[in-house]
Amino acid sequence: MADDIFDKIIAGEIPAYKVYEDEDVLAFLDLSQATPGHTLLVPKADVPDIFAYDDDLAQRVLTKIPKVARAIKASDDKIIGMNILMNNGEAAGQSVFHSHIHLIPRYKDDGLNLPAPSEEHPVSDEVYKERAAKISAQFSKE
Ligand code: AMP
Repeated sequence: MADDIFDKIIAGEIPAYKVYEDEDVLAFLDLSQATPGHTLLVPKADVPDIFAYDDDLAQRVLTKIPKVARAIKASDDKIIGMNILMNNGEAAGQSVFHSHIHLIPRYKDDGLNLPAPSEEHPVSDEVYKERAAKISAQFSKE
């Protein structure tokens, strides 16, 4: 039973501009084209965000990113770059809670301004180390 909008697209209950499909993923154009060719790569499994991926799902879904990226790039010789991003959680700007990866082709002078990583205050070496240690410590818990 399809519950969210992407489940409905995967189930064929509502239309989408599909660009790629296999047993694990569906890729289709985003209805709001940040730039021409802006595509969403969506796992068929109903996972809300990256935090819900196990290793098997990650292998089956995330390994498709280069394939879809290459196809988008090859589709238009004006494409000179690509942003690939994933919003996870409301605080990160996620609005559809069925995991998806944005592939946003870039063109010369396309004017797109994505949020850039920034900090109001410079970060010291100590703070970097502390942050890195907190993250790397999580892998030993897996
Ligand atoms: P996010 O903000 O990362 O959750 O992105 C959700 C994206 O889904 C937005 O860029 C929407 O434009 C896009 N979207 C929502 N509904 C549809 C739909 N029916 N077909 C294609 N894209 C959609």
